[in-house]
Amino acid sequence: MIDLDTLKKILAQPRKIVITTHHKPDGDAMGSSLGLYNYFIQKGHHVKLVTPTDYPYFLHWLPNNPEVIIYTEKEEESKKLVADAELIFCLDFNALSRINELGEEVRNSNALKIMIDHHLEPEGFDDFRHWNINACATAELIYDFIANLLEDKPLITKDVATCLYTGIMTDSGSFRFPNVTANLHRIVADLIEAGAQNWRIHQQVYDNATEGRLKFLGYCLSNKLEVFREFNTALITVSKDDIKKFDIQTGETEGVVNYALSINGIKLAAFIVERNDKVKLSLRSIGDFPANEICKKYFSGGGHRNAAGGQSDESFETVIEKFKSILPEYKTLLLQ
Ligand code: 5GP
Ligand code: MN
Repeated sequence: MIDLDTLKKILAQPRKIVITTHHKPDGDAMGSSLGLYNYFIQKGHHVKLVTPTDYPYFLHWLPNNPEVIIYTEKEEESKKLVADAELIFCLDFNALSRINELGEEVRNSNALKIMIDHHLEPEGFDDFRHWNINACATAELIYDFIANLLEDKPLITKDVATCLYTGIMTDSGSFRFPNVTANLHRIVADLIEAGAQNWRIHQQVYDNATEGRLKFLGYCLSNKLEVFREFNTALITVSKDDIKKFDIQTGETEGVVNYALSINGIKLAAFIVERNDKVKLSLRSIGDFPANEICKKYFSGGGHRNAAGGQSDESFETVIEKFKSILPEYKTLLLQ
């Protein structure tokens, strides 16, 4: 581990920096990464942002998005950048398995590894960490890193602020989760003052659906929603055929699970989707119910108490049955 002073000294000169974030990046992953990217380019660093996979089209408008290098599209270039980097910033994840094959490249690189994250139980691959599980978004920690740790608040420009606002907005469910504090609102106020256009960001992320996505949502709600009142649980399942039929792209299933959670009295909502190579689960919960425990124990995943995910190599039908069979174990908690 290195301390902040050492990191500051290293960053005082132009460095070769790689920023990376988790598989299938969401708004916080991309907002944090492009926010830090847009800050570092002002400091004269040679900085590259490498994502393990593609990410939703409704994030493609973020400032400097065209500079993003997607590992699955440019494997050799990505590997070389990681191998040659002096510093690698790992944002919004804390276990190298979350970045797929890129993980071993990062592990084997001689670069200093800096982790900025808000997930539980870091694996410990890092040399410096800015880590706080109470932060509602990694973007909140990036703000703190730039403004307070590096004392560079004036360099939170309109572009940086726009990216960080996007990260905070998406990971906080538009400022409504329990970890949204008065201090977070103060940060958000700073971001708006720095030029983030809140109304425009909301519109670009949330009011940017294709017709297919909306029809798909309607289909999920009327044909695919199951409610188990005896467990205060709601489930939506989507097969490979459904995905094909509605021509659903990366990111277009995001948020569907929240509709299941919005039903009166529901404490746990699950979204199970059959992908080409595996079955993916998204769980959301209310209050103390530990959605991440189910993901960790049964579906090789994890996450936060109220928003977690996992996957399985078993068949779609088996995963659905497995999820249903787990509910009795949690009955007491679900009915509290
Ligand atoms: P989502 O349901 O949006 O895919 O994921 C919600 C949260 O669960 C993410 O922010 C992440 O923290 C966590 N998560 C999702 N999938 C996985 C996974 O496969 N492994 C782990 N450890 N966490 C996951
Ligand atoms: Mn996050």
